[in-house]
Amino acid sequence: MRTITAAVATTPERPFSIEQFDLEPPRPDELLVRIVASGICHTDISVKNQSVKLPLPMVLGHEGSGVVEAVGSAVKHFQVGDHVVMAGDSCGHCNKCQQSLPFYCDEFVTRNLTGWRTDGSSPLHQCHDHQPLRGRFVGQSSFATHSIVPARAAIRIPKDLPLELMGPLGCGLTTGAGTVLNALRPTPGGHVAVFGCGTVGLAAVMGARLAGAQSIIAIDPVASRRDMALSVGATLAIDPMQDDVVDRILHATAGGADFSVECSGVAEVTLQAIACLGRPGMCAQVGAPPGGTKLPIDMDHLGFGRGIKGVVMGDANPQTFVPYLAALWRGGRLPFERFVKYYELNQINEAVADSGRGEVIKPILRMP
Ligand SMILES: [Zn+2]
Ligand SMILES: [Zn+2]
Repeated sequence: MRTITAAVATTPERPFSIEQFDLEPPRPDELLVRIVASGICHTDISVKNQSVKLPLPMVLGHEGSGVVEAVGSAVKHFQVGDHVVMAGDSCGHCNKCQQSLPFYCDEFVTRNLTGWRTDGSSPLHQCHDHQPLRGRFVGQSSFATHSIVPARAAIRIPKDLPLELMGPLGCGLTTGAGTVLNALRPTPGGHVAVFGCGTVGLAAVMGARLAGAQSIIAIDPVASRRDMALSVGATLAIDPMQDDVVDRILHATAGGADFSVECSGVAEVTLQAIACLGRPGMCAQVGAPPGGTKLPIDMDHLGFGRGIKGVVMGDANPQTFVPYLAALWRGGRLPFERFVKYYELNQINEAVADSGRGEVIKPILRMP
């Protein structure tokens, strides 16, 4: 056992609290990772607030990057000192895992959202009474100085990359860029509309630029986010508080978008993301709406070759996609450092508050 420091989420009302816990050594198929930094993703905040109802208390965080400090006896492909980014855990043998779609793994929920290992244990324990605490969120629980990570959830990246910046490649960047590049696959010259310009939406804008889209239309009510979208590749930005969004997209694309990416999780916005499609057209639903949300869709409109599909984590296999994104960043083609702001771990509540007010797009926590 070693003593570590982590930010634990207990109730929606109480702030994250920084506490010490005992961490087990790695099992044969696990790694001990010293976390260098972790992005804060909107999902972490939604779980903390319980708008996404997962069990608490739990150590959240799922955009961690760090250094391998110990390697389980059965792990052959990692060494102490490797630099890694963490993504979610998966079983490795179900049909979806075999098809390189680990985020649709049959065991996705058990392995990533319960906070426990599949045998119901946790590597994390309270110091005073040794009771287990949920410490396996998305395979990592990275709001912590150290984590025990299943080897399948770790992705090695080159050591000359800035490790503290790389964590968001494991979720936000994969989700946005992957939705365009893997799930929608626009042909060059197409028209893409992106609703919501947080990290995922901005990554979708950058993905659309990489795919050679002719027009990339970014929609967000916050002016600074529209400006950021324009700076990373959007060709037009629309303020939904000022303009009729659907009308402007239909006009700007001379008939409708080929693809739309919905990142807000708001039902009315999703209807706009469908209504703006041309014939044919596909909307990727990425934003997580509150549980039970229903959508009244015009079936006539859908009938003309239009559709909507839910996309998880950009339909990516992170073992190949994260190193690809890292290479794109190195080449200046995924400039997400422009919208990152760093905080220390003990500033986590300030980082969440700043994010909620729209003052920061991607907060990253540095570990002590
Ligand atoms: Zn996330
Ligand atoms: Zn699987």
